[in-house]
Amino acid sequence: MARCSKCGRRAVVKLRYARMNLCAEHFTQYFEKRVKDAIVKYGLVSSGESVLAAVSGGKDSAALLPPLIKAADELGFKVVPTHLDLGLGEYSRECLEAVRRLTRALGVDAVVVDVKAAIGAGVADLAEASGKPPCSVCGVVKRYFLNAAALEWGVDAVATGHHLDDLALYALKNILLGELMGAAKLAPRVEGGEGFLARRVRPLYEVGERECLVYAIVKELPFTRTACPNTYIGSLDATIKQFLLNIDERHPGLKLRFMRSLARLARSLRPSPAAGYGRCPECGMPSRGGVCGFCRLTKSVLGEAAGRRVRNYLRSLRPTLTNPA
Ligand code: SF4
Ligand code: ZN
Ligand code: ZN
Repeated sequence: MARCSKCGRRAVVKLRYARMNLCAEHFTQYFEKRVKDAIVKYGLVSSGESVLAAVSGGKDSAALLPPLIKAADELGFKVVPTHLDLGLGEYSRECLEAVRRLTRALGVDAVVVDVKAAIGAGVADLAEASGKPPCSVCGVVKRYFLNAAALEWGVDAVATGHHLDDLALYALKNILLGELMGAAKLAPRVEGGEGFLARRVRPLYEVGERECLVYAIVKELPFTRTACPNTYIGSLDATIKQFLLNIDERHPGLKLRFMRSLARLARSLRPSPAAGYGRCPECGMPSRGGVCGFCRLTKSVLGEAAGRRVRNYLRSLRPTLTNPA
């Protein structure tokens, strides 16, 4: 049985890239410190700011929330846990239940943003009526709601539970497809545009999927193990995923080095997501030309561009952002 490199107790995880085995207590400390260090190193959120934390009900965002809240207490920023109920039937009900159990366990409140309540249709309805793939509809809806929520609530950034493995896969895919600026937007911090595009931050940038899972299990965090029924891994994604697993096996630490250099590259390139965007004439949100994707989608399915309706709905949910004294 492997022993903890710090205290000699039974180890629960072997971190090959760090050449350490850690017990539950030391792994918890290590994971939380890695997240806090990433927040500080990459300047994700500063003292006095606030961050919307997107909590899906899955293990990754469950693993994001406690270290983010801890870092917020230590560094002096505010966290607004937010769950987007996408309207994907039983799966969404399970996710919501997991988020409720998680936030209850952590003693925090989550704002629940219900897509169906906002516009009268969920992602499943929109996908069926438009004939578009559910994940592409879901992507449009998620991006729109999270960005609009951040703007309506006046929070400074949106934090998501994307971890090192997710991001390395997307980055490598972008590079292989020749989308270098796309890869640069997978940085830990992606700037927004004043008043219409929120800053996006990725506090789990330097921790991998297995670490998130071990942390969630060790901390007994509630999360759903049910996968979305629409989960689909394309053949290029599957190939890259396997390639990254092989890299991990033979060269532990290389993936982290790759993503750290991508973060440096992104900083020097300073990709601005606001560049090339105009404002949607229907709702005032970012658009690459004319009516935004969300207003176009809802207009074609519901007969009405629903952007403004969403913004009003979100305004009605606006949480209090003052830090407790
Ligand atoms: Fe949305 Fe597709 Fe993810 Fe399901 S698998 S949550 S539909 S993006
Ligand atoms: Zn230990
Ligand atoms: Zn719009």
